[in-house]
Amino acid sequence: MTVQPIRLFGDPVLRTPADPVVDFDAELRRLVADLVETMQEQEGAGLAAPQLGVGLRVFAFDVDDVVGHLINPVLEFPDEEEQEGPEGCLSIPGIYVDTKRRMNVVASGFNQHGDPVRLIGSGLMARCAQHETDHLDGVLFLDRLDADARKDAMKEIRQADWYDAGAPPVVKTSPHSLFGTGNR
Ligand SMILES: [Zn+2]
Repeated sequence: MTVQPIRLFGDPVLRTPADPVVDFDAELRRLVADLVETMQEQEGAGLAAPQLGVGLRVFAFDVDDVVGHLINPVLEFPDEEEQEGPEGCLSIPGIYVDTKRRMNVVASGFNQHGDPVRLIGSGLMARCAQHETDHLDGVLFLDRLDADARKDAMKEIRQADWYDAGAPPVVKTSPHSLFGTGNR
């Protein structure tokens, strides 16, 4: 297990949809261990494989002392309830913006051994599952903001000391917004 460098906003890997995991092998278990260790070292609530430069549908989570991982996640929403609260991302350090998410989520997938697992979450855990699954689709929380909030966030990002003006990032509108046209 090793702590790996986290890819930052502007790196194309963060905009590339990840591939489903097919082989539940030792390499996958190494990836899961690296995700968990790097997430905990950075004190993040979650970390997705593309953030380590790996294009596979895997994420780790650490919410309210519940630590785990999910592979090939599929999200379902049992109701219409929403939440609004601050959201950040280890790939966009220091930027926190209120982001609308669904309140309750049922995330189905697999563990590193290929056993089917189900993660039932509300509040922060639900937010985490939505944020990390977005990463696997090349979507960032910035894409979930309304136009004004996104503009403000981009301004903050351009002033951040980690931001690389030589490789300016592309902000796109989510292809599968959960909230219809009001959230573009
Ligand atoms: Zn993130």
